Amino acid sequence: VKESGRAGFRFHVPRKEVDLLSRMRLDHDMRQALAEGRFRLHYQPQVELGSDRVIGAEALIRWRDPQRGDISPAEFIPLAEESGFVVAIGEWVLREAVGQAAYWLSRGLRMPVAVNVSALQFQQAHFVETVAEVLREAMLPASLLELELTEGVLLGDAEEALKRMRALAGLGVTLSIDDFGTGYSSLGYLKRFPIQRLKIDRSFVQGLPNDASDVGIANAIVQMGRALGLQVIAEGVETEAQRDFLAQAGCHEFQGYLFAKPLRPDEFEQRVRPRRHV
Ligand code: C2E
Ligand code: CA
Ligand code: CA
Ligand code: CA
Repeated sequence: VKESGRAGFRFHVPRKEVDLLSRMRLDHDMRQALAEGRFRLHYQPQVELGSDRVIGAEALIRWRDPQRGDISPAEFIPLAEESGFVVAIGEWVLREAVGQAAYWLSRGLRMPVAVNVSALQFQQAHFVETVAEVLREAMLPASLLELELTEGVLLGDAEEALKRMRALAGLGVTLSIDDFGTGYSSLGYLKRFPIQRLKIDRSFVQGLPNDASDVGIANAIVQMGRALGLQVIAEGVETEAQRDFLAQAGCHEFQGYLFAKPLRPDEFEQRVRPRRHV
């Protein structure tokens, strides 16, 4: 049992071994959910220190099944990655998020959206073309799209990954490294690759400001980011103490429950401009 602030207590149940049949069922239901349009996106505000301005929105997939209830992406995305179905899901997410940003723009709200891209999706031969096409169809300026990549995209052919990132950066899309520090790749890529932003993983934010290793890691990431001229955003910021520590460390962008949970698009819009009622 681990204490988790205001939320009370969280129980870490050892992950039950999931048998083949239930995995197959989940995979089947997931495919059906996509076909029947049952996935939704929620948007979590990214906030700038000081101004408290919302500077972006991370799109996070949501799935409510009539029988199963809410199923966490932490549960079905890994399965979709194994089966390859994450490519289809990811394409839907990309279209939906880009469409949302275009809709907001049409209503005068210029809000960059960040989309999670799984390594398998990134490695598809047509990925860059797909991104370009989706932006074109929605007539969204590429500068309003950010792609969150994990260090896993570099696991395969790093030269090919570099080519692809350059092509995406050439379109004007922002690239960030998600869950930074949890991967296994060398840091050399930070210098070579056209990355604009690092996201400090929640696991390193959790123990701030008391856990010595989290303190060391968070400081190191912020300093490295600064040395390379990258933006650094911290995810999973839940307490003022975490925010204050990160701020003094030099991190000026935050995402986490302290600021806002992932919100429905209409809630997000309300939140960003609460005065628009007419
Ligand atoms: P992630 O990309 O690291 O996303 C951040 C996760 O942390 C989200 O969980 C978000 O709801 C949660 N979170 C945000 N602020 C806080 C906080 O203050 N405290 C805590 N405890 N959690 C916070 P979510 O939405 O359940 O997503 C889990 C993971 O599933 C994501 O981790 C991402 O890896 C994956 N995922 C979600 N949506 C997509 C998607 O559209 N495509 C892909 N490929 N993966 C996705
Ligand atoms: Ca993410
Ligand atoms: Ca993340
Ligand atoms: Ca994370």
